[in-house]
Amino acid sequence: MGYSRIVVALDMASGNAEMILQRALQFANGAKVTAMHVVERHPYSGDEVSFQTLSSLHERVMQEGAQRLAALCASAGIERHAVLEGRPASEILRYAEAQGADLIIMGTHGRSGWQRILGSTANAVLHGAKTDILTVLLPDGER
Ligand code: AMP
Repeated sequence: MGYSRIVVALDMASGNAEMILQRALQFANGAKVTAMHVVERHPYSGDEVSFQTLSSLHERVMQEGAQRLAALCASAGIERHAVLEGRPASEILRYAEAQGADLIIMGTHGRSGWQRILGSTANAVLHGAKTDILTVLLPDGER
């Protein structure tokens, strides 16, 4: 029997989201696919930028991430997608569990993991997951 609920983790700020999503679709074989993206909240302790400026910047990043994800999913024919806030690895794990996912699909490495076999997000998810994980090997030009 195949997988029934797949969560696909996509970093919308890197160039590899489309490739990972296409791989996920090739693999899905009738499973429900949900694409998700996590926007990180960067701690900032300087005085030059006000809290308000940072908050509105964060809101814009959230909106842009949601728009890009929605557009990508629309062109791939995926109805379910979500944008979350927090630390990517923790949110991927939390979301996959909340969705009752039986498979997580993600890239081997993106922005945080160049030159390594696995990026830090993939590493952290791999160590914390209660489901199977499929990592998509990304060629150099796709990170
Ligand atoms: P990295 O840890 O940056 O090398 O990324 C490895 C893989 O983790 C990416 O190819 C994505 O599948 C996933 N990933 C990284 N950052 C995010 C994020 N902010 N939201 C969702 N997935 C992410």
